[in-house]
Parts: sequence; structure tokens; C-alpha cells
Amino acid sequence: MSDTFTEVRPLILLRYFLTVYLTFHDLATLKYSVYDKANNAYIPRKDKISRMSNNTIEDVYDITIIGAGPTGLFAAFYASGMRSMKTKIIEALNNVGGQLTVLYPDKYIYDVPGFPKILAKDLVRQLEYQAFSYNVTRVLGERVEELSYLDDRIIRLKTDKNIHYTRTVLICGGRGFFKPRKLDNPSVNRLEGKGVYYQVRDKWQFQGKHVMIVGGGDSAVDWALELKDIASQVVLIHRRTEFRAHEGSVLELFHSPVKIMVPYEVREAYGHDKLESVLIFNNKTGEEAKFKVDALILQLGYEIDSSIFRRWGLEMINNHIKVNGRMETNLPGVYAAGDIAYPVDSIKLNLIVIGFAQAAIAVNMAKNYIDPRSSIFPGHSSEKRMI
Ligand SMILES: Cc1cc2nc3c(=O)[nH]c(=O)nc-3n(C[C@H](O)[C@H](O)[C@H](O)COP(=O)(O)OP(=O)(O)OC[C@H]3O[C@@H](n4cnc5c(N)ncnc54)[C@H](O)[C@@H]3O)c2cc1C
Repeated sequence: MSDTFTEVRPLILLRYFLTVYLTFHDLATLKYSVYDKANNAYIPRKDKISRMSNNTIEDVYDITIIGAGPTGLFAAFYASGMRSMKTKIIEALNNVGGQLTVLYPDKYIYDVPGFPKILAKDLVRQLEYQAFSYNVTRVLGERVEELSYLDDRIIRLKTDKNIHYTRTVLICGGRGFFKPRKLDNPSVNRLEGKGVYYQVRDKWQFQGKHVMIVGGGDSAVDWALELKDIASQVVLIHRRTEFRAHEGSVLELFHSPVKIMVPYEVREAYGHDKLESVLIFNNKTGEEAKFKVDALILQLGYEIDSSIFRRWGLEMINNHIKVNGRMETNLPGVYAAGDIAYPVDSIKLNLIVIGFAQAAIAVNMAKNYIDPRSSIFPGHSSEKRMI
């Protein structure tokens, strides 16, 4: 027995030393990530992942797109559908579409190729369908606040709610994070969502209703014109005597059945579970008037904040992220496209079609960044087997 053990012992020792040697050799020579053929993606080595808090391999994405406006939505389709990248999209608002959803859902757009005329909200619906026909992880209602690098070139994104890990980032943040400017009046804000609205999602919800709109810019005037044939009555109040809206729209307004009250402001909103009436006052004479209304739509403009991106160490031009012709920012693995991007040696045009093209360039570059063996040219979609 003891003889057998003496014979086997050197073998056990040899195996032990081999294991130790191979482990150290492996750690020293292998790259930080390995290519996973099945998923057509680079995945991080397990030993690296173990240092990343409680995250597992599944948590690291090839590309994370910040902002689900038209640029971000198209980028999501492109990354997942065209380039088979493990894709996530994070949007600060609770719905996708960016400016199209928030600022002009019911306006027609005439300059998107293939659509002679399309409502903004319908374009968003098509983009959403195109993007989410593929395996795209959608995160809504989270604002990305911080970007930092782990030592293995994995990027860590911190939102107001979570932490996300990714190899590349495509910033499609548009004009930045925007939220409606609110009225400093507790009686009004108490009824938000119960008859008081800062955003219009669906104009048909006001069908046959008594509506009061507040504001003097394009949004207020456009909504007044849009709702005049749907609502049973539209009252537009503005604190100044002049409107800032487009001249043609103002002219149309004054020839419409919309009741215009200037210079008037909201004094008080009444109602228990829902809005019932609004008291307004003339800010020159103090004269008051009370209206029975079902809806109060406040269009006081938006506060736009793009300072978040500046804090990430990105080179900026005014409030835009500086990019080169490949849509690369000054940070490795970080790209920008759409309204937020400022391409040097090119011209800056804030148009949907420009964002689409930039998104395609950025995604192809990101694919090549994480997998240098893959071609930058994606091939033709018509020659691929797509969904
Ligand atoms: C009234 C109006 C009419 C227009 N008409 C046309 C037209 O006819 N044709 C045309 O081509 N263009 C038009 N435009 C311009 C067009 O809407 C923009 O060029 C387009 O929306 C830009 O798309 P985007 O995806 O780059 O940005 P956006 O549409 O601004 O979307 C950006 C998204 O990123 C999100 N975001 C920002 N920061 C963060 C963050 N930190 N974390 C998470 N999410 C974030 C925002 O919430 C937003 O949803 C119009 C614009 C306006 C205002």
C-alpha cells in the first residue's frame, strides 16, 4: 500500500504543479476577453468578471446605446439586426422616440426617405418595431449619469437606478435630457395626470373636451390648432400679448375658433380627483375669469440638460460631443451620433436622416472595435437572412 502511494505521489505533485503553472500562464498570457463563436461576440473572462461586483457574463453587452430617439432606435436595430451585437438601449424617459414623441408626435415629417409624408408618432412606431424585432434589451426610465472604465476596458454606466456594463457605448442623447418646464403652482401640479398635462401623448384623449392651453411658443399654438377640430372648446392663454410661435401658425390661430386670452396667467386649478375648473387672471389689470375645463395643457418649454456628458471627460463643442468622421469621441469605445454629435470637418445638421447615417457608421466602427477581425462594411441587408 505504502509502495503504491510512493509511486503515485510524484504524479499527484506533477499534476498539481502543472495546474498551478497553467493557471498562472493562462492569466498572464490570455487576453481580457475571449471570442464566443456561438454568440458571435467577445465575452469577458470569468476571472475578470469576478471582480465586477455581482455581475455575471450575461450582464456585459457589446454595445449600449444611450437615448431612444430616432437615432438610438435605428442604431439598436443596426447593432442587433445587422451586426449581431449584444445590444442594450437606455432611455431616460418612459417612452421611446425622443423629440418626435415629446415635442411633435402629431406633426407630419416629409424628409424621411421612403416616406413622402409620415406622422412623427408613426415613424417612431416603425422604428420601434424595426429595432425590437431583434434581441435588443430595452431599459426605459433610467438616466445615464456616469461613465467609467474598468481595468479590463469594460465600460461601466451608472444610471439614476442601476449599473450597466458594456464594451462600447453609442451616445444618441439628442439635445440632452429634457423635461417639461413646470408651473410653480401647487394647485396645478397636484392634479398632474388628472386633467393637468405637460405633454400630449394622444390628441384623441381630448375629443369632445373643454381644453385650456397655456403658452405662447410653437408647441402651445400648434396644439391649439391641432385640437380645435377635436375638442369641443379650446382656450389659449398666454402671459404676454405677443406670441413667439411661427408667423403662419399665429395667423392661422387668429382666424380659428380658438378663444385667445392675453395677457393672462393661471391663478388656481380646482378639482378633487380630477381637474374641474381653472381661474386665470389678467396680469395687467388683475381681472379674473373662471373656466370649466376638463384638461389644462401647459406648454411652457423644456429644460434641456446636456451637462451630464460633459462630466464624462468627453471633448465638447458648445453643448455637443465632438466626433470624427468615424463617429468616435475622444474616449475609447465611446461613439456619438444624431443631434448630440458634432462632427468636425463636416457640417452639423440636426435632421433625422443624418442621425440614421451616423448611427450606421458608429455601430460598424463599434463592431470592429470589439472584434478587429470583423469587417467594417456590414454587407448588404438584402443579402442577409434577416427576420
Ligand atoms: C418641432 C420639431 C420638428 C422637427 N421636424 C423635423 C423634420 O421634419 N425632419 C427632420 O429630419 N428633423 C426634424 N426635427 C429634428 C429631429 O427631431 C431631430 O433631429 C431628431 O429628433 C434627433 O434625434 P436623436 O435621436 O439624435 O435625438 P432626440 O430625438 O433628441 O432623442 C434623444 C433621446 O435621448 C434621451 N437622453 C438624453 N440624455 C440621456 C441620458 N443621459 N440617459 C438616457 N437617455 C437620455 C432623451 O430623453 C431622448 O429621448 C424636428 C425637431 C423639432 C423640435
